[in-house]
Amino acid sequence: MQHPLHIYNTLSRKKEQFVPLHEPFVGLYVCGPTVYGDAHLGHARPAITFDVLVRYLRHLGYKVRYVRNITDVGHLEHDADDGEDKIAKKARLEKIEPMEVVQYYLTRYHREMDMLGVLPPSIEPMASGHIIEQIALVKQILDNGYAYESKGSVYFDVEKYNKDHRYGILSGRNIEDMLSNTRTLDGQDEKRQPLDFALWKKAQPEHIMRWPSPWSDGFPGWHCECTAMGRKYLGDSFDIHGGGMDLVFPHHECEIAQAVASQGKEMVRYWMHNNMITVNGQKMGKSLGNFITLEQFFTGEHESLAQAYAPMTIRFFILGAHYRGTVDFSNEALQAAEKALDRLWEAEALLDGLKASEESTTNCDSLQKDCDEAMNDDLNTPKVLAALFEATKAINAVHNGQAKMTKEQIESLKKTFRTYLFDVLGLVKNQEGDHSSQEAFSKAVDLLLNIRAQAKSNKDWATSDKIRDELTALGFKIKDTKDGAEWSL
Ligand SMILES: [Zn+2]
Repeated sequence: MQHPLHIYNTLSRKKEQFVPLHEPFVGLYVCGPTVYGDAHLGHARPAITFDVLVRYLRHLGYKVRYVRNITDVGHLEHDADDGEDKIAKKARLEKIEPMEVVQYYLTRYHREMDMLGVLPPSIEPMASGHIIEQIALVKQILDNGYAYESKGSVYFDVEKYNKDHRYGILSGRNIEDMLSNTRTLDGQDEKRQPLDFALWKKAQPEHIMRWPSPWSDGFPGWHCECTAMGRKYLGDSFDIHGGGMDLVFPHHECEIAQAVASQGKEMVRYWMHNNMITVNGQKMGKSLGNFITLEQFFTGEHESLAQAYAPMTIRFFILGAHYRGTVDFSNEALQAAEKALDRLWEAEALLDGLKASEESTTNCDSLQKDCDEAMNDDLNTPKVLAALFEATKAINAVHNGQAKMTKEQIESLKKTFRTYLFDVLGLVKNQEGDHSSQEAFSKAVDLLLNIRAQAKSNKDWATSDKIRDELTALGFKIKDTKDGAEWSL
């Protein structure tokens, strides 16, 4: 196969041609959510970015195994090596089982991803289900001499590792800079150096989530799960690892160190990172307290929101920026996205009714080439959308009789327009909860009831009964009041 796709590799800091290790198979691992709270707009971005990557890879004919994990243990506050597990803390505060917290938020996360048109991953492993693999990883690193045990915990020896390899290869940081920027935190006395990170932590007596290990009853360090689960499901060498830019350091840097320290070589070929969602220029995040949850977007119930936004508006809004650029949230930007998406749907609806001419006065033949080139250039979705809007102009012109297209042109336009809109960008038309489709639906029922009222006043009982009976059969409840008929479903 020709390999047209080029992606930006954070490791080499440049765009590289994408060549899979085992064509036609592609292994992709993406860091999923920590499930201790509702997903917010910041979570939608990596999910949608890598969903589009998967869709495009499949569109190109690759067979993708997409692994996206669920972090349900070991993710500590402030990325420090000590402190209480976020999920355990929530469970303690709400007096429920930690797995209850996980299940509750995971169910909600899945529902919201579904509404955003994000396809489920091929495998969604949970950290708590892979403690054995993580313990095996820690053992390997200990055996190779890149970790040490201290008071029941195990730490990665960054200084030792950096002598043989390079710690900081992904983030471009060097050890001296990192040392001068490292705060002194709890548990520091157990470590040889402040930069050393936990591979296994001995649990404090009050800690609920704990497992037995050769070193202590405890829990794995956060970085272990992705190395262990990536290797388990994609092998000791796989194609792409993705995640948000905020994960480059320390999480992904530590993953690389763990992989090299345990198996002697790096596991990942291409590292891809999406940029952040910002609010007034500041990253939207749970820890910063400036986040708006997806549910709040869908219902409009948040003081910063001027209205509710359909999930597809959110998806379109995110795709309107290149994944490596920031996206600044504002109501104006979302309202513009809503209007722009409506224009695409209107054009899509006109496609089947376009009348072919013998001759052509439109030049829309470059649509497929433009879309392909944009996607091949590091998933440039804003350029794809620009090409679709150019096509929209041509569609409208032909519909209004201001331009002509041949039958072949129309067929090719239909195919490319829909393939990109639906299959590659993953936009869903007339989705449940979609504003305009609900409005149209209500108006159509009102219209039927108006016709029935007219029939009644004309004493046309056959028509009025037919409308009532058939609506009732469809599940509508019709109530006649002195102000007219009311309905509910
Ligand atoms: Zn991860």
